[in-house]
Amino acid sequence: MSYSKSKALFEQACKHLVGGVNSPVRAFKSVGGTPLFIKKGEGAYITDVDDNKYIDYVSSYGPLVLGHNDSDVVEATIKALENGTTFGASTENEIVLAELVKEAFPGIDKVRFVNSGTEAVMSAVRLARAFTKKNKIIKFAGCYHGHSDFLLTQAGSGLLTLSLPGSAGVPENVVADTIIAPYNDMEAVAQAIQKHKNEIAAVLIEPVPGNMGLVLPENDFLQKLRELTSSENILLICDEVMSGFRQSFGGAQHYYKINPDITCLGKIIGGGMPVGAYGARAEIMDMVAPLGPVYQAGTLSGNPIAMAAGIATLKKLKGARIYKHINNLTGQLAEGMRRIANEHHIKIQVAVFGSMITPFFNEHRVTDYTTALKSDTEKFAKFFWTMVHNGIYPPPSQFETWFVSAKHSEKDIDFTLDAFRKAIQ
Ligand code: PMP
Repeated sequence: MSYSKSKALFEQACKHLVGGVNSPVRAFKSVGGTPLFIKKGEGAYITDVDDNKYIDYVSSYGPLVLGHNDSDVVEATIKALENGTTFGASTENEIVLAELVKEAFPGIDKVRFVNSGTEAVMSAVRLARAFTKKNKIIKFAGCYHGHSDFLLTQAGSGLLTLSLPGSAGVPENVVADTIIAPYNDMEAVAQAIQKHKNEIAAVLIEPVPGNMGLVLPENDFLQKLRELTSSENILLICDEVMSGFRQSFGGAQHYYKINPDITCLGKIIGGGMPVGAYGARAEIMDMVAPLGPVYQAGTLSGNPIAMAAGIATLKKLKGARIYKHINNLTGQLAEGMRRIANEHHIKIQVAVFGSMITPFFNEHRVTDYTTALKSDTEKFAKFFWTMVHNGIYPPPSQFETWFVSAKHSEKDIDFTLDAFRKAIQ
């Protein structure tokens, strides 16, 4: 495989774009080498500018649950485009997408569409603070909720990879009201709530975190969190930007049977176009402008193209067929990874939720940020490049989640496991 065109483009890109990229994880810092430039995606595959073809497990970090270039999504998008790109006025499809979101998330009465997951969570926290008239929030180490200032403390994703303590440019007083607890540690949450009695507006959580790699909730952690927050008058905000529509036509909140006060969404609901959303029961959402005093707006919010792509995606996801397929394939991939690693006496932990999967090169069970960080990132880097050389494109960091799409097939999983065997060897 040659990567000469990617290399040349990256050199050029570095002259014009910060670090050659527009989002840090794309720079391949944690695996070394030159990032690949992609020219095309089709189904489960992507092709780079040097004409190397890969089975894609990045899926644009999650939105492409239907794979690349899904014919229904493409058709709906083109149809919308032909009517104009944006009006700054309402369009009917905003209602249609809101109805689909509400059908999947019955706890939501009203939705507000925004342009990214970052905006969704930032606005949800503003709303929670206004609704409860309290300021502090609890978030979990290793959970990532976008790059708004007050949430850039022990966030995951690119921050974990780059090992930044938070971010330069965020004043201490801005994060002073953000309390960090370890994920899966109910005791720590209870202590924080006691210490800051009547000061906490919300507990913000990725119910199934995917930004320190994939980590699963243990021992009724989410249910207990719901009980405690309810009894203490604290809102529970589930950030399902990544986990939403991933395991079923709903969220992790349905799988784990918890009913949050506010839900944040993104990625899949935009079908590959820039979208975010937050929603809650009417009593809470009616505090948002124009009905209420919480200001939040957006020039391109509810963008017609994004609405059309989102509607086409959610309509196709409705029903169990696609979920049965992707959940089965992801299970097979996990089983295969465990078996092959075991045969070669390599210690890995493979976490799975629906179509999300992370193999951790780690001897310890991964239950939180601290245990995730014990993973062998050097081993992962070697593993990553061997996978790439063998036609597989995993996320370029140990601390990202892989996504299986509806277009992946059993043959793709077998091919992936063959590459996996080579990498493990
Ligand atoms: N929340 C979660 C759980 C996410 O995974 C992400 C993005 N990976 C975000 C928020 C931020 O979304 P965006 O990148 O669209 O701003």
